[in-house]
Amino acid sequence: MAVNQEDVKAAKSILWPDETVEVTAKQRRIGPGGSATSPTSVLATDKRIIILNRASLGIRQDYEVIPYKQVTSVRLEHGVLSSSVFIRVQGYDRDQGLLKNGKEEGEIDGLNNADAKALADFLNKKLDDAASSPEAGETDSGAVGSRYCTQCGNRNPASSKFCSKCGASLGR
Ligand SMILES: [Zn+2]
Repeated sequence: MAVNQEDVKAAKSILWPDETVEVTAKQRRIGPGGSATSPTSVLATDKRIIILNRASLGIRQDYEVIPYKQVTSVRLEHGVLSSSVFIRVQGYDRDQGLLKNGKEEGEIDGLNNADAKALADFLNKKLDDAASSPEAGETDSGAVGSRYCTQCGNRNPASSKFCSKCGASLGR
């Protein structure tokens, strides 16, 4: 798998101690798709997707976290110079970040072709794994209690290990 150590280092303060970065994808610095407001690096860890936007470093929100649980589909659009990875996310806050255009599908454009392929392949595999896991499809009955996120206050099903809103670990 393609992992750029520079990106891992940049995300060090965001990563959890037990989190492993599996794939990184970098945006092309020049050429179509490489805009200043777009994300510059995408990290797919064993637990979630982290999008680093170095262009806005210094601003509080300089990265985004997307839990795999909220990703419903991933598709790759292959270009000549660069590729785009489209991520469809369920229940995502539409006013922020990646999907602020009001769609439930976010485009990470201007990625190196090889990076984009590795990222899309990895994400699709993650989705397959999640779909075949016994926890898939489990719903919050409300009878067994809930877990409230200590980071953002979001109410999660009792079986959740991670907050569905911000991706924070809910402990055991
Ligand atoms: Zn949370």
